[in-house]
Amino acid sequence: MKIETRAVHAGRHIDPATGAVTTPIHLSTTFERSPAGEYPRGFSYSREDNPNRRALEECLASLEGGTQALCFSSGLAVVTALVQGLEPGDHIVAPDDVYWGLRKVIGEVFGKWGLETSYVDMTNIDDFHAALRPSTRLVWVETPSNPLMKITDLTAIVALSRQAGPNIVTVCDGTFATPVLQQPLDCGIDMVAHSTTKYLGGHSDVIGGALITRHENYLFERARKSQRYGGSVPSPFDCWLTLRGIDTLPWRVRAQSENAMKVARFLAVHRAVEKVHYPGLPDHAGHKIAARQMSAFGGMLSFQVRGTRETALGVAAKCKLFIRATSLGGAHSLIEHRASVEGPDTRTPQNLLRLSIGLEHTDDLIADLERALT
Ligand SMILES: *Cc1c(COP(=O)(O)O)cnc(C)c1O
Repeated sequence: MKIETRAVHAGRHIDPATGAVTTPIHLSTTFERSPAGEYPRGFSYSREDNPNRRALEECLASLEGGTQALCFSSGLAVVTALVQGLEPGDHIVAPDDVYWGLRKVIGEVFGKWGLETSYVDMTNIDDFHAALRPSTRLVWVETPSNPLMKITDLTAIVALSRQAGPNIVTVCDGTFATPVLQQPLDCGIDMVAHSTTKYLGGHSDVIGGALITRHENYLFERARKSQRYGGSVPSPFDCWLTLRGIDTLPWRVRAQSENAMKVARFLAVHRAVEKVHYPGLPDHAGHKIAARQMSAFGGMLSFQVRGTRETALGVAAKCKLFIRATSLGGAHSLIEHRASVEGPDTRTPQNLLRLSIGLEHTDDLIADLERALT
């Protein structure tokens, strides 16, 4: 079935006890054993598994076309669980502009673990190839990337990783693209990671993460153990909220992509704007690859104002409809000066503003930006 149908039906069941159409929230932490001491209904204790978590996992596996999914308490809990599955001395390849939290997890939480990491420009396939080593175990891809919206060719990454040997597990952070716009597992990627906090939840009211796999592999099994015994589980209510958000995911993401395209076109010809980073624009370096591997270009974009850090901060300050806040993927449009969030060693241009385009009317969004830019 098509993704709109799976978004509404996958993982959902009519409640056999009451006929409830909407999945009930199961707050119980513990589940009854049979007289023989077994768990005939498949649940024992909510850290191990819970009906709401299982429903969300079934739905996500279906949306990504994977065999299994694990839901975590945050997107970074997914990263933590994956990195915990690696051995000292293992080598990771990740994008040079990877989501900053991944660098923090690898560098500050696992600094003493003895991992080797190469941060490379994965849009340059030769640089990526040169970074692979016999000890490489994890290849992390993020496309589109944050905040420059760089596009990585997933098929090319898979081909080179496979050529380098059977020990490499490839993982794509699919947060920006969502399963609606991009299907990394179809490109041969082994696993997809999501911050469900963003588009999947979709309403800026719940933190969560997910890992979906195409096939059994040791890093997925280790992530499962790390979660069950380490405890980074989402609450039943968090899972319920995320699953409710997913009902409307395909429609939201398509509307946000349409809105973002209009905003990008408006900004691209504005005299106060130096450069727009949106893969939907034909002059974006990754446009051709994006057009091939995505069904639309997403709701995220960034732009550089003509001027300095102060000019950019001034534009954000003048916005009335765009809310100055971090995060993305919700119904409200957000504007953010990334460099000041990322700190002094950031590589993000100081005159750059990132937009998460929401579900407002584009006439109003564009009017707000026009006012702020003049
Ligand atoms: C937000 C985000 C994360 C981290 O997810 P949390 O839910 O905040 O822990 C990881 N990757 C990307 C691309 C993100 O945008």
